[in-house]
Order: sequence, then C-alpha cells, then structure tokens
Amino acid sequence: MSYVQRVVSNLQDKYAYEPIFLQAVQEVLQSLQPVLDKNPQYERYKILERIVEPERTISFRVQWIDDKGQIQVNKGFRVQYNSAIGPYKGGLRFHPSVNQGILKFLGFEQIFKNSLTGLAIGGGKGGADFDPKGKSETEVMRFCQAFMSELYRHIGATIDVPAGDIGVGGREVGYLFGQYKRLTQSYEGVLTGKNLLFGGSLARTEATGYGAVYFAQSMLEGKGQSLEGKKCAVSGAGNVAIYCCEKLYQVGATPLTVSDSRGMIYDPEGINMDVLKQIKEVERESLTRYVELVSSAVYTPVNEYPDGRNAVWSVPCYAAFPCATQNELNLEDARVLLANGCQCVAEGANMPSTLDAVHAFLKAGICYGPAKAANAGGVATSQLEMAQNASMQSWSFEAVDNKLHEIMRNIYMSAAETAKEFGEPGNLVMGANIAGFRKVANAMVAQGV
Ligand code: GLU
Repeated sequence: MSYVQRVVSNLQDKYAYEPIFLQAVQEVLQSLQPVLDKNPQYERYKILERIVEPERTISFRVQWIDDKGQIQVNKGFRVQYNSAIGPYKGGLRFHPSVNQGILKFLGFEQIFKNSLTGLAIGGGKGGADFDPKGKSETEVMRFCQAFMSELYRHIGATIDVPAGDIGVGGREVGYLFGQYKRLTQSYEGVLTGKNLLFGGSLARTEATGYGAVYFAQSMLEGKGQSLEGKKCAVSGAGNVAIYCCEKLYQVGATPLTVSDSRGMIYDPEGINMDVLKQIKEVERESLTRYVELVSSAVYTPVNEYPDGRNAVWSVPCYAAFPCATQNELNLEDARVLLANGCQCVAEGANMPSTLDAVHAFLKAGICYGPAKAANAGGVATSQLEMAQNASMQSWSFEAVDNKLHEIMRNIYMSAAETAKEFGEPGNLVMGANIAGFRKVANAMVAQGV
C-alpha cells in the first residue's frame, strides 16, 4: 500500500462518521502522490499524518435567549487546523448542517487555499449549527454575542482571524466584532469582512465572486479563449454568487441563472442585478420574489428539479460557476454540462463538485478551476484587510481590486506551472494541491515536532 493509501485508509477507519471530511482529504491526498515520490522526506517526517489532524479543535455551548424569552442552545466550533505559515485564517459558517466533520473539511481545504494565495495565513474554520433563517435581527445579534462570549478567548489578530462564510456576512461580523471589543477592550483586526466604518476593506465583499471570474479568465486566456459575449450559469444567491454575476457583466458575459435553498431562477435576458441585490442584500427574501419583479424570469422550485440533480446545470452555458455549497454538482450534472458544450467551470463555493464530477471535467479536458484556487480571492482579500488594519491604513477600491486580480493570476500561474512540472499540464486540481501543500509541508519540516 502506498503512503497515501495507508493514511487515507487509517482515516477511513477513524473518521467513518465524517464522510465529507474524508471526501476532502481523498481529493487532496490522491493528487499528492507525485510530490511525495519526489520528496521521500515528507513520509519520514509523517507530514500527511500530521497535516490531516487539526492542531486544535475547540467546541463549545452557545446559549442565548430568543425573542419569546425562551432559552436556545447551539453547538459552536473553531477548528484551528494548521499554523505553519501564519495565524489560523478562515470563515465562520452558521447553518443547521454545521458539525465537526463539515468544519474539518472546510478547514482542511483552507490550509491549501491560503497557502496558494502566496500570503502568510494558516488554515482554520469555525461556525455553529445555528439557522439564521427566520430569525429576527435581535436574535441574530444575541446569538453572535453568545457565540463570541466563548470564541474571544481563542482568537486574536496574530493568533486566529475568523471571517464570514455561509450565514455569516457583514451584519454578523459587526455583532461579533462588537462583542469581542466589549470583552477584551482591544480594537484590533481580529475579524475580516468588517464594515468599512471599523476597519473593513473596500472590495472584500466583492472579492470571492470577482476572484472566481478573474480565475476563469486566466484559465481561458491560456487557451486563447475569453468570457466575452458568453452565456454563464451561476448557482447560489449569496455574496459569492451576486458578485460573480456582477463581474461577469463587467467582462461582457451574461449570467442566466441564480439559485437558493428553495429553487432557481432562469432569466434568458440575464440576471437583473438591481433586483437580485434588493431581494438578497436588502430584503433577505427568497428568490420567488424575483419572478414577481422580472417578467422574463422562470422559477423552478427544488422539488421540481430532475431526480438527484441540480436544475441550474441543465441550462446550456459556456461557463459554469458553482457558488452555492458543497456537493451541489454531481456526475450527472457534469455530464449534462459537458453535453451542452460547457468549456469552463470555476468554483466559487467550497468543494461544490463531487469527486466523480471533478474526474469527468478533467477527463473532458475543459478548463476546470477547483475551489481552493478559484475562490481564494475572498480569503486573499481578507489578508489585505489584515495588512491595512496592521498598518492603520485603508486602500482605495482600485488598489485592492488590482491586488486581488494579480493574486488570482498568480494562483493560476502557480497551479498551472506546478501541474506541468509534475507531468499533467492542465490538471489544476493536482497543480493547486501540490503548490499549496509544498509550502506548508516545508514549513512544518523546518519547524520541527
Ligand atoms: N469563507 C471564505 C473561504 O471559504 C473566506 C475566509 C476568510 O476570508 O477568512 O475562503
């Protein structure tokens, strides 16, 4: 049995109850074989056994009072995965599906993603099984305060810097920051994705979605193609999807779809950005509102999706941008996309494609940008926010956006060159994983045990 197989098989025995974590580990480890063959010291230093295990996992009770005066109890976590190249960095997710396995998958991905940005940030992730849906403003505030009442003792501007993820946006980061400050009396860049009024960075909100489009452009340029005049399918309707659509328009492409947990919109005229932002950023409503406001649009509820599939991927498109959540695009979806002539997939969400869907894209030889490369613009811009906070400066939108663009180009180059170096040109899964891994592994070796 190879080193990789041995480590994976041990993990399968040990963490059989965390299938999503095992999926993330398998995807990364399988592609590392060539770099392990060339560097036998990694096995001697037990790098794989060490890198798959979080340095520390904090799990805690979150107790708060709802608007009816009832006591509510949730489960909170922070997985401090790897600090070899910088302080732990990664978002917080508030969603009923959150458990330790989900956060381990996200934290594990974050290690390589953060390394790939070329910036000095380690990997971490956290969150709670709190469901923000249907909660009032004051309930969300009290929950955030209760969550931070425990988390504050484990984080700090040079220790661990959380940010947003699903269910955690500017509003939640504001409440979390307020509580951190009350408890510690310290005004520091301990969270990113903050409001511009207290240390936030311009272009952080846009960064993940913009970055995914920049990454798609880089991949296509490599083949002498472009997004201009092309039809695109986008899933999700959160921060990532909204700014992915916005950037697509800016580069001359047309996003035709968006989706939320209840259904999808297909708008043959192109997604109307004012309406989308009004519904999702202002009203925090379901996409059913979209068809009330835009007559060209068609709404399909989730229960009418074809069996076991995501209807977004049935819309013929040149490029697909999965920006909703993990495993939202399976092998069947991938086959339909390919059959309809899709030439490019850039992942805005974390691990949106199943392992067999990824293999189908690689086999077809289309431009496939895996999440940890294509969506790294969010966390990269978080690091730019940290840099601004540390130097007490704030940069212009253009300055941040230009840096983001450059970082995305560099990530593409680094993944593409590494794939070539290891004999599989075009395989950005392998390229991104190896490039991200190498830096962290070498730092771990140098720091001893
Ligand atoms: N949650 C985002 C991600 O998956 C951003 C994390 C951050 O900005 O720290 O990368």
